[in-house]
Amino acid sequence: MRIVLLGPPGAGKGTQAQIIAGQLGVPAISTGDIFRANVSGQTELGRKAKVYMDAGDLVPDEITVAMVKDRLAEPDAKAGFLLDGFPRTIAQAEQLRGSLEELGHGLDRVVELVVEEEELVRRLSGRRMLVDGEWVQRDDDRPETVRHRLQVYREQTAPLSGFYDGEGLLSRIDAIGTIEEVTARVMTALGRPVQPGQPSDG
Ligand code: ADP
Repeated sequence: MRIVLLGPPGAGKGTQAQIIAGQLGVPAISTGDIFRANVSGQTELGRKAKVYMDAGDLVPDEITVAMVKDRLAEPDAKAGFLLDGFPRTIAQAEQLRGSLEELGHGLDRVVELVVEEEELVRRLSGRRMLVDGEWVQRDDDRPETVRHRLQVYREQTAPLSGFYDGEGLLSRIDAIGTIEEVTARVMTALGRPVQPGQPSDG
């Protein structure tokens, strides 16, 4: 299955991406994670991306699109994937469609996680990540950057909802509830309902 997970910062995309990809047996590909790994590894790509990430802006399409194209060409993504955090602009969505067409494929479904903005601000400002055994706040989770990321989402990424709805691919999912509840809603939308009693991460 070829899936895109769409949704604002703080909607729980990363968490759901890991669980759902595990259930589908496909790799979860997160552009945010790839960028962060490059920043920690101090690569050329990381150095370029960091400026934009710290400001809460999108990394330019030419950098991001080339990176995703390379990742999708790796063997583990041949039979399917779940994209988390890409595409984030209409231009990226069109590039993705083109790359998949070249390979003779298309997307099977786009799942949008829906959470109201007030709740997103609450979740992001309180979020801490475990890095080298310590709980730290991501640089871009500071309140002023969070507000800017949400604005970038509204302006540049939210239009993808209409774009994919027009292609008949969109499922909008209420992402308020427990992790298990949200996973169950997504799996139902993907036509793979979780059976009662079945572990949600297996
Ligand atoms: P979140 O969804 O919480 O904002 P991500 O981990 O998906 O976090 O992304 C963090 C940052 O990485 C973004 O604010 C942006 O700077 C960069 N980034 C991730 N994916 C993309 C993308 N598809 N296009 C441009 N920039 C991206």
